[in-house]
Amino acid sequence: MRAAVLHGPDDLRVEEVEEPAGDVLVEVRAATACGTDRKMLRHGHRILGGYPARFGHETAGVRADTGERVLVGDSVACGACAPCLAGRAAICRAPTWVLGGFAERIAAPAAALHAIPDGLDFAGAAMAEPLAACVHAAGRGTDAADVAVLGGGTIGLMLARLLVLEGRDVLVCDRHAERRAQAEAFGARSAPELGERDLVFEAVGRVEAWEQAVAAARPGGTVVFVGGCPSGSAVRLDTGPLHYDEIDLRGAFHHTRAEVDRALALLAAGDVDWRALAGDVVGLEDLAAALRAPAAGEARKLVVEPGP
Ligand SMILES: [Zn+2]
Ligand SMILES: [Zn+2]
Repeated sequence: MRAAVLHGPDDLRVEEVEEPAGDVLVEVRAATACGTDRKMLRHGHRILGGYPARFGHETAGVRADTGERVLVGDSVACGACAPCLAGRAAICRAPTWVLGGFAERIAAPAAALHAIPDGLDFAGAAMAEPLAACVHAAGRGTDAADVAVLGGGTIGLMLARLLVLEGRDVLVCDRHAERRAQAEAFGARSAPELGERDLVFEAVGRVEAWEQAVAAARPGGTVVFVGGCPSGSAVRLDTGPLHYDEIDLRGAFHHTRAEVDRALALLAAGDVDWRALAGDVVGLEDLAAALRAPAAGEARKLVVEPGP
């Protein structure tokens, strides 16, 4: 079968590879891409486990054994570490990562699979992975009514939509007018600059944005960091507001199995319009060029259809 294989930084080749081995074989119908895939292409990633490596972690397809339509979750929590035992599987210390969606087939443990609700397309189902991370991030916040999301990329927009569905007043901040228009189509308000809010989500993944998010929190407010910065990044924090204004700072990482199922249900119900976030559809041959292309205009996810 054919697969996109990373051989080193920025060295992506589409090659004939052996059938993947694992519990359940899934024929990939659609795999969506995100910023993490761009990072993996350019710089590698700790979860790739060395080269050569397969990647693609937002994957939907059909079980080869039963014909069932499934989302291939990108990880299975160990169930035994301290966070897992404390009900926080998103930060499991020893997850099994399931990568390799940019290929004709992927093998996955049965525990990674989720049934796709009827009526939801494969590309929409693949987006349940990032949406689940947003469900998780929303849960890391408070119930404040007055919320800002810094960053109108696909994660920021999905997160804003979830908060709008909860009846909150959501402001999405992004420099790009196209993304502000997308935020408004999702029921949020938008602005190029961040004002003060009770709850601020950072969804950019840059040091400057982390610092801006903290500066925008009102006294007694909460900041949730959703965007991952390059490893080793350090942010500068003014201790004054943290101390005297009791600003709460929280990270949000990944998701749990239940959050993936919640995301699938939201997508199937049309509560989150995945088509408004779907971008170009490419095959494996065009994947590298598409991942390298600079992001411009609207925030949309690349859809990879690896089939022959
Ligand atoms: Zn992703
Ligand atoms: Zn664990």
